[in-house]
Amino acid sequence: MPTTQKLVRFTSDTDKALYEKALRSVDLAVRSYVWYLDPEGHIKHGNQQADSLASLERTRGMHFAEAIGLPASAEQWQPELQKIIKSGIGVFGARETVMVGGQPRQFSVDKIPTLDRWGGVNGLLLVVNDITEEAARENALLESEARYKAFIATTTDAVWCYEVSPPVDTRQPPDEQVAQIAERARLVECNQYYAELYGAENPDALLGAKMASTTISNFLGKLRLFIAAGYQLADKETARELEHGDLEYWQITAMGTVDDEGFLQRIWGTSKNITDRRRFLEKLHYQATHDALTELPNRTLLHQQIQQAIEEHNGNSQMALLIVDLDRFKEINDTLGHHAGDRLLRQLGPRLADEMQNLPGIIARLGGDEFAIFLSSVSGAEQASEVAQRILAAIRQPFVIEGFHTEISASIGIALCPDQATDVSTLMRYADVAMYRAKRDMVGVSVYQAEQDPHSPKRLALMGELGKAIRENQLLLHYQPKVVIGSNEVQGFEALLRWMHPTMGLVSPDDFIPIAESTGIIRPLTVWVLNEAIAQCKAWMDRGMEAAVAVNLSSRSLLDQEIVTTIAELLAAHRLPASMLELEITESAMMADPPRALLVLQAIHELGVRLSIDDFGTGYSSLSYLKKLPVQTLKIDYSFVVAMLEDEQDRIIVNSIVNLAHNLGLQVVAEGVENARTLAALQDMHCDIAQGYYLLHPQVASDAERWLRRREEEKELALSFEI
Ligand code: C2E
Ligand code: MG
Ligand code: MG
Repeated sequence: MPTTQKLVRFTSDTDKALYEKALRSVDLAVRSYVWYLDPEGHIKHGNQQADSLASLERTRGMHFAEAIGLPASAEQWQPELQKIIKSGIGVFGARETVMVGGQPRQFSVDKIPTLDRWGGVNGLLLVVNDITEEAARENALLESEARYKAFIATTTDAVWCYEVSPPVDTRQPPDEQVAQIAERARLVECNQYYAELYGAENPDALLGAKMASTTISNFLGKLRLFIAAGYQLADKETARELEHGDLEYWQITAMGTVDDEGFLQRIWGTSKNITDRRRFLEKLHYQATHDALTELPNRTLLHQQIQQAIEEHNGNSQMALLIVDLDRFKEINDTLGHHAGDRLLRQLGPRLADEMQNLPGIIARLGGDEFAIFLSSVSGAEQASEVAQRILAAIRQPFVIEGFHTEISASIGIALCPDQATDVSTLMRYADVAMYRAKRDMVGVSVYQAEQDPHSPKRLALMGELGKAIRENQLLLHYQPKVVIGSNEVQGFEALLRWMHPTMGLVSPDDFIPIAESTGIIRPLTVWVLNEAIAQCKAWMDRGMEAAVAVNLSSRSLLDQEIVTTIAELLAAHRLPASMLELEITESAMMADPPRALLVLQAIHELGVRLSIDDFGTGYSSLSYLKKLPVQTLKIDYSFVVAMLEDEQDRIIVNSIVNLAHNLGLQVVAEGVENARTLAALQDMHCDIAQGYYLLHPQVASDAERWLRRREEEKELALSFEI
C-alpha cells in the first residue's frame, strides 16, 4: 500500500542547491528512474536511468504520462497531481503496470512534492522502481500461503502447532524436558479436522489447549523419541486404546524449532489416523498367511513359525513336523462333489486341533488334501508317532457331510528337528519323503529314515559312485533257486544284484535301483546284469548244469524299445537259447505306460524269452489287462507269503492268487518261503514253485552251483538207494 509523509522543507536556496548537487552525484549509482516534473506534470529533468528509458532530449516539456506511454492519459493523472501539489503531501509506493517491450512490468512510484522557499509546491519528484520480480515473488508467496491454508483446511490429516512457552531448555535431561513440554506447550494453530477431534466447532475454539490435554493421536507418548531424534519425528506410529478395548492407530510427523540458545520454541506436526489402513494391511497379511477354505495357517506362515521355533529352540527337546496327506480324497470329490470335499476339509482342522491336546504347536494346510502339524516340543520320534496315530484315528472317524457318512484315511510322515534336520526346508522335505513312504507301504505313519530317502545325501553320494561301480567291478550277482514244489527240481535261479561298496560294504538293490531308475544309469546297469546272468547261465550249461536264469527288469527298461535288441544281441553273443532266460517285471512297472509296455513285452516274448510278473498282489493291475499279457508266470509277493501261516487274510490272498493264475493258465511262484510249514501249505494250495530262504538264501554263483551239484548228488544217491 502507498504510504504518505510530509517532506522536509528547504530553508534556503543553498540547501536546495546542495540537495540537487547530492542528487546529481548519486544519479549514476541509483537504479531507480527519477524524473523532476513541473506542477502541471511536464518533464523538467531526469536521471540517467530515466534518460535511458525515454530520451530526455525528446521528452523534456512533454507531459509525463504521454512521454512514458502510461495507460492512464495526462487528464487522468492530473487530479492526483493536483492533490499532491495542493496538500504538499507525497504519495509513496503507488503501483503502476506499464508495458515495456510488449511485456507488462510492475513499477512502484513515489510522488514527492518539492517546495519553494515560501512553502509553495514548485514541482514533483517521481522516483520509479521496477519491482516486477519482487512482485512476482510476493505473489508466489501469497499463493503458496493460500494453498497451504486451503490444504490444511481440507486435509484429513490433523495439522497442529504448539508453542512452548516459556521455551524449554533442550540441555536438560530428556525426562524433565518431556514433563515441561507437556505442561507448557499450548496449541496456537490447527486445522478444522484437529479441532473436531476434540469436539471443538472450529480451530479458534481449541486454541490455547495444553498438549497434556490434547492426547488423541498420542504425540505425548512419542515425546522421548522426538527429543532423541533431534526434535523431529517422521511417520511414527502410535496406538491408543479405545473404550471397548480396540486400538486406534495414528501416524505422526513433527518438527520442533529450537532457537540459537538451545530452547525449544514451537512444535509443528501432523497426525494421520491410519486405523483403517492398518486393519486393511492386517487383513491382507491374514489372507497371505492363511488358507481361505479352512482358515488354517498356510505354508508361508508354517514356514515362518518353524523358522522362529528353530531360532528359539533351547536344545532340550525335539521338534516334529508331521505331514498328513489324505488317502483317496479325490474319490470324495468325484463322487460327492467339490462342495462336499470342501466341507470335509473344513471339518478336519478342528479334529486335528483336538488331538494336539496340550502339546504346543501349529496346524497348517499345505494345499489340496495335505496338512501339516508342527509340534514344537516332543520327547522324540515315539511321542510324535503317538500323536500321529491319534490323528490318524481321528481322521478315520466318519464325517457327516450333507447327511452322508463318509470315511477317509490318511498317511502321515514325520521328521524330527534337530535330530534329523536343522533347517525348515530340509525338515519339510524329510517329512514329505516319510509321508510318501507311509502312503506307498500303506502303513499309516512313517518316521523319516535317511536310508529310505531317494535324495538323502548318502543316496546322492551313492548315485555319483554307481557309474564307477559298473566300471570297477564292484557289482556282482547272487543267485537264488526256484524249486518246483513236489518234484523238488530246480527250475532255475533268480539273479539278484549286489553292490560291494569299497567302504559301505554290501549295498541292497532296494537302496540303489530306485536311484539308478531316476537317472540314466539304469540302462548300462541292466545291460551289465543281463550280460553277467546270460554268461553265467551259459557257463553252467557248458558244465552240464541246466538251470535257467531270471533277471529283474526295471520299469524304466520296459519303456526302452532298445532293450529288445540288446537282449537278442546278448543271447546271440553268448549263444544261449532264449528259453533259458526269464525276465521278471513288476506289476507297477507295467502299469506306468501299459500300451508301450505291452509292445516291449510282446517283442521279448517273440524272442522266446519267458516272462513273469513279479511282486504280484502289491500293484493294481486289472485282470482284463493281465489276460492280454504274454506272460507265463505270476510271482506272489513275499509279503503275503512270509506271514500266511499267522495271517488268515494273507493265506486267503495267496490261495486266491494261485487259483487265479491257474485259471488264467499261468504258473505260480511263491516268494518268501522261510520254513517247511509254509512250503507244505503252498503244496496243499497246489502252488507250482517256491523260492525263499528256507530253500536257499541268495548266493554267489559258485556257491549256488555247489548247492545244486550237492543236491543232485544227494538225489542220485537217494535214487540208487531206492534201486
Ligand atoms: P524281487 O525281484 O522280488 O526279489 C526277491 C527279493 O526277496 C530279494 O531281495 C530276495 O533276497 C528276497 N528274498 C528271497 N527269499 C526270501 C525270503 O525267504 N524271505 C524274505 N523276506 N525275502 C526273501 P533283494 O535281493 O534285496 O532284491 C530286492 C529287489 O531288488 C528285488 O525284488 C528286485 O525287484 C530288485 N532287484 C534285484 N536285482 C535287480 C536287478 O538286477 N535289476 C533290477 N531292475 N532290479 C533288481
Ligand atoms: Mg524278482
Ligand atoms: Mg518279488
